[in-house]
Amino acid sequence: MSENSRFLNQSQLFSRDENHRLKILKAISTYDDQVDRMKSDQFIDWQQARLAAAKIKKYVLNNLPSLLEEFEEKISSRGTKVLWARNKEEAQKYFIDIATQHQAKKVVKSKSMTTEEIEFNELCQNNGIEVVESDLGELIVQLANEKPYHIVTPAMHKSKSEIGKLFQTRLGAPSTDDAELLTMIAREHLRQIYISSDIGVTGANFIVAHDGALVMTENEGNGRLTMSCPPVHVAFVGIEKVIPRLMDLSLFLPLLATSGTGQQITGYNSIIRGPRQRGEIDGPEEMYVILVDNGRSELYNKDHFRPILSCIRCGACLNACPVYRTIGGHTYHTPYQGPIGSVITPQFRGMEEWSHLSFASSLCASCTSVCPVNINIHELLLENRWEAHQKKKTDFTWNLGLKMWAWIMSDRFRLNIVSKLGRHIYRLFMPILSQSKRKRIPDLPSKSFKDMWNNYEQ
Ligand code: SF4
Repeated sequence: MSENSRFLNQSQLFSRDENHRLKILKAISTYDDQVDRMKSDQFIDWQQARLAAAKIKKYVLNNLPSLLEEFEEKISSRGTKVLWARNKEEAQKYFIDIATQHQAKKVVKSKSMTTEEIEFNELCQNNGIEVVESDLGELIVQLANEKPYHIVTPAMHKSKSEIGKLFQTRLGAPSTDDAELLTMIAREHLRQIYISSDIGVTGANFIVAHDGALVMTENEGNGRLTMSCPPVHVAFVGIEKVIPRLMDLSLFLPLLATSGTGQQITGYNSIIRGPRQRGEIDGPEEMYVILVDNGRSELYNKDHFRPILSCIRCGACLNACPVYRTIGGHTYHTPYQGPIGSVITPQFRGMEEWSHLSFASSLCASCTSVCPVNINIHELLLENRWEAHQKKKTDFTWNLGLKMWAWIMSDRFRLNIVSKLGRHIYRLFMPILSQSKRKRIPDLPSKSFKDMWNNYEQ
């Protein structure tokens, strides 16, 4: 089945599943309330904060190659090895080389979208390496043999009772749907994993060029344990994650926490400047940063798409999107869902298979209005549609429909005829449609806009 057909089938299934929609609505409503409160409590002027962040990110994009080199030079000087991966295959190869060198059999991993992008878990399974997710949401979806549902809250679609049953069957835990007890079960399970793993794998929310540091923000402390308990730390980082200076965090950390989870600041914010240094009592003995390109340079070279590389993966555009709220995260079948996913997936994975995602939008621009770094997301969806059309990746009926629409709309006489014809067709077909279909079609106004306009002029 093609990705397009799969997407359409899943969309129908999920949009009709009221139970599923209620769960998502509940989760996102809670998020909306918290974000609204935090925006006004924490920022004197939210719009100015967005503009300031966008300005810093624009500077980063204009100077990306030199900032990345500066990051490499600074962090390497304290013993971290930096590897540049042009694509998924290179990133995977680097990791397997590191794992082989350290005879690694077990890996603990904290939440990282870049590792999802390069199919890290599948890589480990295929190479006989056990990998355990340490973020609670990621652990839940891993135990359920599922993919993350949302880039920030991967198990948003699971109720507490579903998680209780999962822990009971997969971890042999006693039956419960109490959130605190469930957290303690996961915590107990993970403690042993941290200390018995050979490698800890993380992502990074930011990399700081002038200071050569990785920044990780999280709420469970699992990222910090993942990075510091095993003897080797490997971080996979997209090349766009740069900010110039440490002081920029004073804007980006609250911005990300507010847009991501409606918090003032996330619970744990770590600045990692390298492996354990002489005289330090903890931290990994070796550290690697794998800088992942995987299609980003191509986006960088397309002027109008370049701003999408400012994304800080807060997930706000997913929560604001009426399409995501209706069809849910798994329908997209990609690591990045919602509006951000619909912009970058066709670019990363090719228009051939993925252009349909750019059409999964009403272009209401809710995504653009909530984006904390002011990315013109809905306009980029249109750019994708244009590119798909140019490459002839839109389907025949869609193209024919658009051509006919343009032909009709470009002539007043044709438009009048079609409007009149449309009214007759409506009256003819409505009575023979089933009641459920009739309910979905809006009532026809008694007068057309043209008639109302003519009456108004008289
Ligand atoms: S595009 Fe904007 S709103 Fe969407 S995830 Fe990225 S930063 Fe957040």
